[in-house]
Amino acid sequence: MATRSSSPEGEGKLGREPDPGGPLEIPPGEMRRLARLVADAVVERWCGLRERSVVGTASRREMEGRLREPLPYHGRPIEEILGRFWEDVEPFAGRIDHPRFLAFIPGSPTFASLLGDWLAAGCNFFQGTWLESAGPSQVELVVLDWLKGCVGFPRESDGLLTSGGSAANLLGLAVAREERLGGDPAGGTVYASDQTHTAVDRALRILGIPGARFRRLPSGPDWRLEPEAVARAVAEDRAAGLRPFCVVANAGATNTGAVDPLPELADLCRREGLWLHVDGAYGAIARITVRGRAHLAGLERADSLVLDPHKWLYVGYECGCLLVREPDALLRSFRVLPDYLQDAEAGGRAAADPDGAGPRPRAPEVNFADRGLQLTRQARALKLWLSFKAHGLSAVIAAVDRTQHLAEVAARRIGESPALQLASPPTLGILCFRYVGDPAVPEAERDAVNEAVIRGMVEEGRFMLSSTRLGWEGGAFRGGAAESRYVIRLCPMNYRTTEADVGAALAEVERLGATAAERSDSSRTRPAS
Ligand SMILES: *Cc1c(COP(=O)(O)O)cnc(C)c1O
Repeated sequence: MATRSSSPEGEGKLGREPDPGGPLEIPPGEMRRLARLVADAVVERWCGLRERSVVGTASRREMEGRLREPLPYHGRPIEEILGRFWEDVEPFAGRIDHPRFLAFIPGSPTFASLLGDWLAAGCNFFQGTWLESAGPSQVELVVLDWLKGCVGFPRESDGLLTSGGSAANLLGLAVAREERLGGDPAGGTVYASDQTHTAVDRALRILGIPGARFRRLPSGPDWRLEPEAVARAVAEDRAAGLRPFCVVANAGATNTGAVDPLPELADLCRREGLWLHVDGAYGAIARITVRGRAHLAGLERADSLVLDPHKWLYVGYECGCLLVREPDALLRSFRVLPDYLQDAEAGGRAAADPDGAGPRPRAPEVNFADRGLQLTRQARALKLWLSFKAHGLSAVIAAVDRTQHLAEVAARRIGESPALQLASPPTLGILCFRYVGDPAVPEAERDAVNEAVIRGMVEEGRFMLSSTRLGWEGGAFRGGAAESRYVIRLCPMNYRTTEADVGAALAEVERLGATAAERSDSSRTRPAS
C-alpha cells in the first residue's frame, strides 16, 4: 500500500518512529490526515443529504464499467482510492437515511451511533470471549438490560446482539427447536400468519423445518393471526402424528404494522406447551412510547423476542437483538467448549469470592460466543451505548413517538383526499394506501396506475416509497382475502422526516397518479389500430 510522505507533526506528537510493520504500516501523521479526510467527507454527506436524490442506482453494466479491475499487485495512494469511492461507489446506493426515504423500513442512525461503530472498528475488539473483551462485553450486558427494560422483559432473561433481525430470528427459532423438540426437527411444525416476514421461512428452512411444516395461516380481516385458527391447526397436526412446537407472532408485521394478539397467543402457547417466538424486528421498540404500548400489550410474555436496533432505535447497520426469557436457554442451545478455547472459559471466577467482599449477586462473566453463532464478534453494543448515553431515552422516545405521529398525519391527509384511498390504518408507523383518482380510475386499472406512480417516483428520485399487495374482498381491503391489490406503502420512520416531507410525498403521488390515469384513459379510448 503506497502512502504519502508522513507529516512531521503527527510523528512528533507520538515522539517515536512507527513499529517496523513493513509495507502494511502507515506513518501516524498520515493516519491522522486520512482519518480526518474520511470523517470530513462523511459529515459533508450527512449535512448535504436533503439536497440530493433519494435514489442512487445504476445497471450492472454501468457498475462493471466503473469498478471492474484485476486485483492490484501494487498499491496506490489511499487518497486516490477514496476519490474513487466517492465517485464510483457512494453515489450508486439508495440514501436510506435521507429524510424523504419513506420506503421499506428506513434506517437513520444518530451520529453518536456512528462514532460507536468507528470506535469498535478502530479498537478491533474481539467480542467473543470475556477474556478478550471484558469492557465491551460488560457494555453489551448493560445495553441488553436497557433493551429488556424497553420491551418489558425480566432482568434475568438472556440475550445477545446480532447482525440483524434475520440472524436473531434464526437463533431464536433454534432455541425453540432445542427447548421444545430436543434439537430434532423431525415432524416439528410452526404456526404464524401469512403476514410473517420471509426471514422466518428462511430460518426454518435452515433449521430443518421445510415450508410444508410451516403453517402460514390466513390472517384475520385486520391482518392479525387468529388464535382459534392456530388452535385448530395444532390439533389437526397432533392428530396426524406431527410435533407442533412453536408459534411465531408479529409485533409489527412489515406490510401493515399489524401486531398479532399477543396475550391470547401467550395463553394458547402455555396451554399447549408451545414456544412463543415474537418477531418485533422493527416494531417492538415502539413499546417505549404511549402510542406504541397501546398496540404491544403482552409483548413481555414472549419466550423469545427479536428486535432490530438498526431500524427504529436509530443506530447504524448492523445491529439486531435476540432476547430469551428463560435464563441459560441460549447456553443450552449454543455452548460448545473446544480445547483451544479452554483459557477463555467464563462463568467460574465471579461465583467464588476473590476479593473477600462477602455475598453479592451472582454475576458470572459472559462469553458471548456461547450465546449464538459467532465466535469472532464485533462490539456492536458500543453504538447503542453511545447513542443512548449521548441523547438519553427521552430523546429516543420523542423521535419514535413523532414518527408514529407522522404516519397518523399521513392517514388523515389521505382520508381528506378524494384521489387517495387508505388501505391499512397507521399502526406502528406504517400505512398503506393507493391512488384511485377523481374521477375514479376503473378498478381493473388501479394496480397498473399505482405501479406507474412508484416507477415515476424512482425515476424522479425526490421521494422513495415502496409497494406491497394487500387482501381485497367485497370492494374493501382486508387481511386473509384470496384476491389482492397493489398498494403504496409509507413508513416515515427517519427522525429527520418532517410533516412537510410527508405532505409533499402524498402530493407527488396525486400528481403522478393523475398523469398515469390520464395515460391509461387515453390508451383505453384510443381506437384499436
Ligand atoms: C426487518 C425485519 C426482519 C429482517 O431483519 P434484518 O435486520 O433485515 O435481517 C424480520 N422481521 C421483521 C418483522 C422485519 O421488519
